[in-house]
Amino acid sequence: MVVGLGPGKRDLLTPRALKAIQEADLIIAYKTYLTFIEDLITEQEIISSGMRKEIERARAAVDEARRGKNVVVVSSGDPGVYGMAGLVMQTAGEIPVEIVPGVTAATTAAALLGAPLMHDFAVISLSDLLTSWAAIQLRLEAAGQADFIVVLYNPRSQGRPNQMEIARQILLRYKEEVTPVGIVKAAERGRETVLITTLRDMPVEVIDMQTTVIVGNSQTIVDNGRMITPRGYLI
Ligand code: SAH
Repeated sequence: MVVGLGPGKRDLLTPRALKAIQEADLIIAYKTYLTFIEDLITEQEIISSGMRKEIERARAAVDEARRGKNVVVVSSGDPGVYGMAGLVMQTAGEIPVEIVPGVTAATTAAALLGAPLMHDFAVISLSDLLTSWAAIQLRLEAAGQADFIVVLYNPRSQGRPNQMEIARQILLRYKEEVTPVGIVKAAERGRETVLITTLRDMPVEVIDMQTTVIVGNSQTIVDNGRMITPRGYLI
């Protein structure tokens, strides 16, 4: 089973995910996410490892499932959104894999900002670890050109300090300088920060790998401190 943990706080972990974790024989996790569920670990065996060990974790999950264990691989947010679901399925071959969805960063951040995703949106990860930077830039261009609301995951890290700024400049080719931008850091992890700014003024340097950035479309407004993309209702 591959189980989504949601953004962090327990009340955004689904009852189905909770049950799966409680009933697991073995839990396999990226180290950081294990802390989200520490208090739920009683008898379950644990395998945890660091970043870029995803293939090893998926292989371990499949090996142990073949031995008859009830294995749960946990992923933050939704496991099918830049998470472990695809890799585990590709590794599993004929073994059935159940996916338990979770609350993803895009909708978690959106809820804290207001209602910015009321119309068509594109989710783009700025990480070029597994995708070429050329392809990412092309997708930013296309999303900007098509006036999508753009949600950016993995926006900026120490190793990739400039891509967020390049992304901003690409989007500025198609979007107005005053387009609302929401920046949400560590959402629902107990110490979140929420900022509503514009594509012109956004403080790129505060953005990190715990941040989700939502750039509005041409209709997005800020109303009473809330970022809203009107759906089109006549009110
Ligand atoms: N599977 C996860 C996404 C993994 S990619 C999900 O569905 O949410 C990791 C990226 O997700 C981070 O770099 C960040 O952009 C975003 N993210 C994950 N959790 C977040 C949180 N609590 N607050 C803000 N952004 C978050």
